[in-house]
Amino acid sequence: MTNPKFKNISIEAYRPGKSNGGINKNTIKLSANESALGVSPKVKKIISNKKINFYRYPDGNSTKLRKEISKKFKCNINKIICGAGSDEIIQMLCQLFLNPRDEVIVPKYSFLIYRIYSKIVGAKVVFSKEKNFKVSIPEILKNVTKKTKIVFIANPNNPTGTYLTKYELIKLRKKLRKNILLVLDDAYFEYMKNSDYKSALDLFKNKENVFILRTFSKIYGLASLRVGWGYGSKKIIDGLKKIKPPFNVNETAQVAAIESLKDSKFISRSVKHNIKYANKLKNFLEDYRITSNKVSANFLLLNFAKCQIKAQNFYKKLLLKGIILRSTEDGYKIKNMLRLTIGSRTDSLRFIKAVKEIFKR
Ligand SMILES: *Cc1c(COP(=O)(O)O)cnc(C)c1O
Repeated sequence: MTNPKFKNISIEAYRPGKSNGGINKNTIKLSANESALGVSPKVKKIISNKKINFYRYPDGNSTKLRKEISKKFKCNINKIICGAGSDEIIQMLCQLFLNPRDEVIVPKYSFLIYRIYSKIVGAKVVFSKEKNFKVSIPEILKNVTKKTKIVFIANPNNPTGTYLTKYELIKLRKKLRKNILLVLDDAYFEYMKNSDYKSALDLFKNKENVFILRTFSKIYGLASLRVGWGYGSKKIIDGLKKIKPPFNVNETAQVAAIESLKDSKFISRSVKHNIKYANKLKNFLEDYRITSNKVSANFLLLNFAKCQIKAQNFYKKLLLKGIILRSTEDGYKIKNMLRLTIGSRTDSLRFIKAVKEIFKR
């Protein structure tokens, strides 16, 4: 009675992949899809050499960064908005578009952040069924009602690693009612080299009813600095600007992100590394009847259905050896599976050694 009362929001807070903080230095973390090769050497250099004035506020419009992004990805600077991670842009989209009781459709095993921010603003989250852990267009369309405002899709999706082909994406946009915003999250597009895939930015740059998300947290290796961006119609961007926290992207993050865009060598090295080790690990695990999706991003969803060990048991045994994977039961509620991030060469070799030990009798 006497204490201030806050809203009762029925959500499960986001639980990130377990971190090695507080465990020990030798622990390897393969639970958060972070960059296998760390940060570009160019970024490291500029951050240690450049004298950033910490007492000054950063550029609230991230002007130089947006300019560099528009140059690199051949898109319109006025249709770009930067955020403290793409997370913040998802949050702002929900604030801008959703009224209480509006409906949002998310595929059942899609990235958790979409449902969390949608629920916070009072929207109803409708889950569309998937087929073999892949987004199903008919199932999405089946769930559309008069109240549907947004459909969120990560492509490829985290944690399932499956993706919609360019034709499927085009078909979805065609069949979805025009006034429903389709939010497409390109977080892992750099890793995707399959010929039937195209990033959302490449497909929908000029669509008024598609909003695209990009991040510096994955292949660019800047997860800790919190920087991402969104791309949409000028109208949506102007709407977002009104609700954007004024100094949302800090100066260090802006400087690092700009520099990271210039180091295409580092990006191609990361892509090559990822394809090599993702395939190596996938094939290696198949010997133990641990199966996974076709290589798409910098992680694999491991399926233990045919394996003699249960996922949870495997998780615990690896943890005892100092290797952390992502449980897919937390939040995602996917049973008997685990998500494995493709780490560095050293990490991968240690993982292989540990798995061999686990299965040795
Ligand atoms: C990791 C990830 C992001 C990135 O989020 P940031 O807030 O930019 O760090 C966005 N979408 C998906 C699907 C992800 O897996």
